[in-house]
Amino acid sequence: DVALYYAKDKGRNNYQFYTVSLSAKTPELWNLEKSLRHALERQEFLLYYQPRVNIITGDITGMEALLRWHHPEMGIVAPNIFIPLAEGSGLIIPIGEWVLREACTQNKAWQQAGFPPMTIAVNLSPKQFRQPKLVETVSAILEATGLESQYLELEITETTAIENLDFTTTVLRKLEQMGLLLSIDDFGTGYSSLSRLQVLPFHNLKIDRSFIQELAIDEKVGHIIKAIVDLGRSLGLRLIAEGVERSEELNFLKSINCDDVQGYLFYKPLSAQQATELMGSKLKK
Ligand code: C2E
Ligand code: CA
Ligand code: CA
Ligand code: CA
Repeated sequence: DVALYYAKDKGRNNYQFYTVSLSAKTPELWNLEKSLRHALERQEFLLYYQPRVNIITGDITGMEALLRWHHPEMGIVAPNIFIPLAEGSGLIIPIGEWVLREACTQNKAWQQAGFPPMTIAVNLSPKQFRQPKLVETVSAILEATGLESQYLELEITETTAIENLDFTTTVLRKLEQMGLLLSIDDFGTGYSSLSRLQVLPFHNLKIDRSFIQELAIDEKVGHIIKAIVDLGRSLGLRLIAEGVERSEELNFLKSINCDDVQGYLFYKPLSAQQATELMGSKLKK
């Protein structure tokens, strides 16, 4: 009855995984899970959008959709808290479907408003990725929203990808044939080797934020990041760095020819309205 796990992002070396059994759930978590059951029908979810930029030109190349829960009493609840609950209870399936639909609808609306087309990236949880109807659901949502498949990107973590390589290969091939973009998320946290992942039809590789964070503390991390970029490049992947906050980090990533960056140095996650205003202001220039 293992229902809950947290991955605390405290840097790569002391990544901690907690496993909590259902019976050990605190009253607070029970209550949170109870209200999570009604969050969809009460329309308490919203998406934020974090732009990803080309490291050379600074142009926005895409947006990552990031889920937020507006709890009536607690205010905004971060995904690191409620996604493990949703994953454990199975609620992640309808919630994840809502995220996909909302992200596609928004991206289509931006295109119809005349903004240059770009990809919208959606995170898929392990359970969501393994649901038998995923491909069908994605295809129905693209159809319903009218978004072309090339403008939807799906991010799955390295750990999700390697857990059942045969299954992953089958599903990813189908999605790739449909024309979607596929990304390996949080790369470097799963202790797997890129060579095992090379059989999978990924387009992008996102280097986990914990590496970028450690750059300032430990110079040697730079060698690891460079090795990931070089190997990723040789496998034909586009390299994206997460969590870039400082100009020194940016300069280092430029020097090793990373492709795209995402982080507070450029943009924090934006509300739909803020993201729309940002794109409008770029258009005028
Ligand atoms: P992630 O996929 O690695 O997403 C990047 C996270 O890093 C986001 O946190 C983003 O706000 C944060 N971030 C980006 N740049 C910076 C930076 O420069 N500095 C710092 N300190 N943080 C930065 P967020 O939005 O809290 O999301 C946390 C995680 O929750 C995501 O990590 C993803 O694993 C999960 N998540 C978010 N939305 C969804 C969703 O719709 N479905 C699923 N299954 N998971 C989601
Ligand atoms: Ca992600
Ligand atoms: Ca990450
Ligand atoms: Ca993640």
